[in-house]
Amino acid sequence: MEKAKVSELFSSIQGEGLYVGRKEIFIRFSGCNLNCVFCDVNNKKGEFYTVEELVEEIKRINREAKWLTLTGGEPLLWCDFLKEFLPLLKNEELKINLETNGTMPEKFRKIKDLIDIVALDFKLPSSTAEKPFWKKHQQFLNLAKEKSFVKVVITAKTISEDLKKAVKIISEIDQEIPLILQPVTPHRKFRAVAPMKKVLKFQEQALKFLTDVRVIPQIHKFLKLR
Ligand code: SF4
Repeated sequence: MEKAKVSELFSSIQGEGLYVGRKEIFIRFSGCNLNCVFCDVNNKKGEFYTVEELVEEIKRINREAKWLTLTGGEPLLWCDFLKEFLPLLKNEELKINLETNGTMPEKFRKIKDLIDIVALDFKLPSSTAEKPFWKKHQQFLNLAKEKSFVKVVITAKTISEDLKKAVKIISEIDQEIPLILQPVTPHRKFRAVAPMKKVLKFQEQALKFLTDVRVIPQIHKFLKLR
């Protein structure tokens, strides 16, 4: 029987991206295949759940939420678990939102039909200090294009060439796919925040090729919510 390591399970409002403010249940899966320089998640902590245990926990904490967000870490590291778990939720009438770093299209393919919305991060190497994943992001967006928006985190180090590459990939697939520019939230270990002038310039640059480009910070951090 599949088990997955979960570090947090809670009810809150969506704090990022196109659907900010929506009441949701969040499952934060433990572990990630990346190590972004601005990451504020503890990817080691967590407890193991069976699919049945996790369904029961969701029933226990849900108060009228219509959406369930799978976040992390990287939830697709647990795709075999998700393949068993998500069909068991059908009586709960929850729509499923996947937040992913977009680097494992082959895993997404296995559970694609069980997901309603994908919040797809493109990891700009100048932002993350990680290697580039352009090809993987392109493959992922191709698989998820009908149900995705793309998000990129902008820091003081983000270069316009990386944004251009991301915009090119999106516009070649579908220029109507929304792009969210998310100014990085500073925290104890990371202070390299981008000046707003730079973020707005990036928005202008991206709007030359895409229809819907929005600047949205992490609002849950301002509101001191989880
Ligand atoms: S992909 Fe997300 S969870 Fe993984 S290291 Fe980067 S910011 Fe952290």
